[in-house]
Amino acid sequence: MHKHDAATEVLTQAIVRYAVDRVRLDPPPLDGPRTLVELQAMAGRTITERGVGGLEALRVFGDVLAQACISSDHPRFLSFVPTAPTEAAILFDLVVGASSIYGGSWMEGGGAVFAENEALRYLSDLAGLPASAGGVFVTGGTAGNLSALIAARHRWRQRAGGKHDRTRGLIIVSKGAHSSVASAGRAMDVDIVSADADDQGRLKLDALQAMVAGLSQGDRERVFAVVATSGTTNAGVIDPLAGAADVAEELGVWFHVDAAYGGAGLAAPSVRARYNGIERADSLIIDPHKWLFAPYDCCALIYRDPLQARDAHTQHAEYLDVLHDGEDDWNPSDFAHHLTRRARGLPFWFSLATHGTAAYRDAVEQTLSVARAAAQLIDTAEHLELIMEPELSVLLFRRTGWGPAEYRAWSDKLLADGIGFIVPTAWAGEMVLRICVVNPLTTIDDIHLIIDSLL
Ligand SMILES: *Cc1c(COP(=O)(O)O)cnc(C)c1O
Repeated sequence: MHKHDAATEVLTQAIVRYAVDRVRLDPPPLDGPRTLVELQAMAGRTITERGVGGLEALRVFGDVLAQACISSDHPRFLSFVPTAPTEAAILFDLVVGASSIYGGSWMEGGGAVFAENEALRYLSDLAGLPASAGGVFVTGGTAGNLSALIAARHRWRQRAGGKHDRTRGLIIVSKGAHSSVASAGRAMDVDIVSADADDQGRLKLDALQAMVAGLSQGDRERVFAVVATSGTTNAGVIDPLAGAADVAEELGVWFHVDAAYGGAGLAAPSVRARYNGIERADSLIIDPHKWLFAPYDCCALIYRDPLQARDAHTQHAEYLDVLHDGEDDWNPSDFAHHLTRRARGLPFWFSLATHGTAAYRDAVEQTLSVARAAAQLIDTAEHLELIMEPELSVLLFRRTGWGPAEYRAWSDKLLADGIGFIVPTAWAGEMVLRICVVNPLTTIDDIHLIIDSLL
């Protein structure tokens, strides 16, 4: 099965054709979930002793399995945080797959790592981090937050010179922080305290300062990181980053900024000033698979001082130490909690190289203006109530007179009719609607269609 012959040639053509056709669908079919029992009946058994053959497996995928997956790049997929990869990025992902690149070390993957680092540099420069900043692409924001916080704890313990090697650490976050920070806290077995947020979910600086002032001496010594979010996933609001950086500085601890969703806004002049203070981050994450037009899975994890992170993460083993002979080699494995890795930053790099950064700036601005126009439409619609003006590209709103049952029924019907995918969220304990625009192909007409469906 490893030799290329007539049968693999036929299969190659079919697979490439399938991929290219899928990329070109405009829009792609929305599709929708199926139950396990339905899939068992429709797909049948595919893993057999002799194999079903590639063409048959591809048929089952296209006719059954792919259709049981919602297309998150559909312009009316507006739930959670959608994705909107460029054609260039998606197709280059095929090339990455075909190239068997080990993306963990410079020795094996130097060319790929070089290109990935160029893409990281673009993001690092947008944030205003120093030229010495650098990092690695990991699977997602969850992995990025965990790895950054591990590096933060490592530095805290190192600086304490052994005094805190067995002390349980403490992270300060805002109530609006993403669930993955709490997940990192559980994985690391550290404590997390959260400062109050304002009524839009933005970190309240005075609450943060009061909380820090109220810490016991023992707790204050346990703090190893302050985490701010730009912007929050549920409401798309940006914490006061400069103020949070001040608090981290006063405490002498690591400042981490979770910009998994909102980091793309750094490219947009109309909102860039809201991120001021981000340049003081010790670490920063941005998910290009969210709002920067890269396919899954791709999170940029950037450290102000990458050597600190390397110290925290490098794995040592007899068979690996040869990789560390080259003093100046950049080994991506050393900068996160992982070893073997796909060069997952390459599709993002390729698309950036292809289109140029101005196209990225314009595409992000495009989504922001659709979000602003949508807010106006919602604000003026009799049957809807805007909960807050969008700071980025998330909209929260109510359908007057509706409760959970109506929201759920509407959401199900919208998907079943192939119109769009929007699930309700919770806001201050109430079920409401939420739209997140990251796809430059989403138009104001799409929003009109959604608004009319809520009548
Ligand atoms: C999406 C998101 C995450 C988690 O990222 P994944 O890529 O889904 O792991 C973390 N933080 C914020 C603010 C996010 O929006």
